[in-house]
Amino acid sequence: MTSLLAADEAGRLLAEELAGRLPDARGRFGPFGGRYVPETLVPALDRLQEGVERWLHAEEFQRDYARELHGWAGRPTALTRANGLSREWGAEVWLKREDLAHTGAHKINNAVGQALLARRLGAKRIVAETGAGQHGVASAAACARLGLPCVVYMGAVDMERQAPNVGRMKLLGAEVIPVTSGDQTLRAAIDEAMRAWVADPMGTYYLLGSAVGPHPYPYLVRELQSVIGREARAQMLAAAGGPPDIAIACVGGGSNAIGLFHPFLNDGSVMLLGIEAGGRGSGLGDNAATLAFGRPGVLHGSFTMLLQDAHGQIQETHSVSAGLDYSGVGPEHALLHAIGRVRYEVANDDEALAAVDLCSRLEGILPALESAHALAGARRHAMEHPGSRILVGLSGRGDKDMSTLQAMLLTERG
Ligand SMILES: *Cc1c(COP(=O)(O)O)cnc(C)c1O
Repeated sequence: MTSLLAADEAGRLLAEELAGRLPDARGRFGPFGGRYVPETLVPALDRLQEGVERWLHAEEFQRDYARELHGWAGRPTALTRANGLSREWGAEVWLKREDLAHTGAHKINNAVGQALLARRLGAKRIVAETGAGQHGVASAAACARLGLPCVVYMGAVDMERQAPNVGRMKLLGAEVIPVTSGDQTLRAAIDEAMRAWVADPMGTYYLLGSAVGPHPYPYLVRELQSVIGREARAQMLAAAGGPPDIAIACVGGGSNAIGLFHPFLNDGSVMLLGIEAGGRGSGLGDNAATLAFGRPGVLHGSFTMLLQDAHGQIQETHSVSAGLDYSGVGPEHALLHAIGRVRYEVANDDEALAAVDLCSRLEGILPALESAHALAGARRHAMEHPGSRILVGLSGRGDKDMSTLQAMLLTERG
């Protein structure tokens, strides 16, 4: 990233980021982020930004949010000392258990927070996009809870691959609209949801599912997901007697990772490690490791790192975990990578599958394939730094992955 940031600029941005002054007024994390959108979207984003500034940190909003997180979504989630993995890897491993949150992953923190915001803004209905269906399910649940109609855009290809989640969304009262344009997966679904929002910016609220997209979404989602890191930090101090040496999370769009990392940014002794999906290799189209293999560009209204070919065409991605299968990454991660505060590595499909297997057998916890990438990163770190105290963001549970696990782990075993 030296081409994008001179050394003195990187130093200045690191100081800004640590001081909590990013994004700036234009929604920029250094060179990344911002708002690269058609004119028609600007009034809707302005309105959202005003709403975020007025409500997000207001006492009454935070009280409502805390009540829903606690009484409905099951927070605080547990911090578990992973005794089996600790013995196996010769380290001290702690798991932040987002798999125990309602609907089975961290996504509910964002969904219920934004749904509450939508209600404050007077929205009559919610639109959301979903790829694998996890964000669609979380949005449908939050909307049911708050009495808001919910429309979820989902690629036609994804609807076929993730049929159980389509059923879940429908049971939760959401309307699921198949997207047959573009790649018929998450990327096209985001475009369609944005279009639906532009058509009715006053009555509709667009509930975006990760720390991506135009300002203020990356900021809004980070603030909502930071509950993960705030809890984990306090729990580590109480249960482990001190902060971890390293905190590790998987990175798709980057919402669970930024939520875990952000409250630790100023703990200089805590290393932060994001793990991207290495898929089946380093070739174009074989992975979803945006920071490892991508170049800067604009996608979904944000200037960030992207997987693209030599002509700037966005690349199809591959990962065994559907939730990491995205060709972009949140702009704050692009900055944290460029300034070196967070390190990013990849774990491939096989490493993730092995980590699901091990965590299930040694801990009695079946992790999501996404989360298993973080576990694979933890294993590698433990091998290199024996005895270290490792905090892993276990972003979700693996029950949703049973058909993949059946085909890839159980069939060969018989
Ligand atoms: C969606 C999902 C992810 C990836 O999304 P981020 O925005 O990168 O957090 C990771 N883990 C689980 C369990 C998910 O459902």
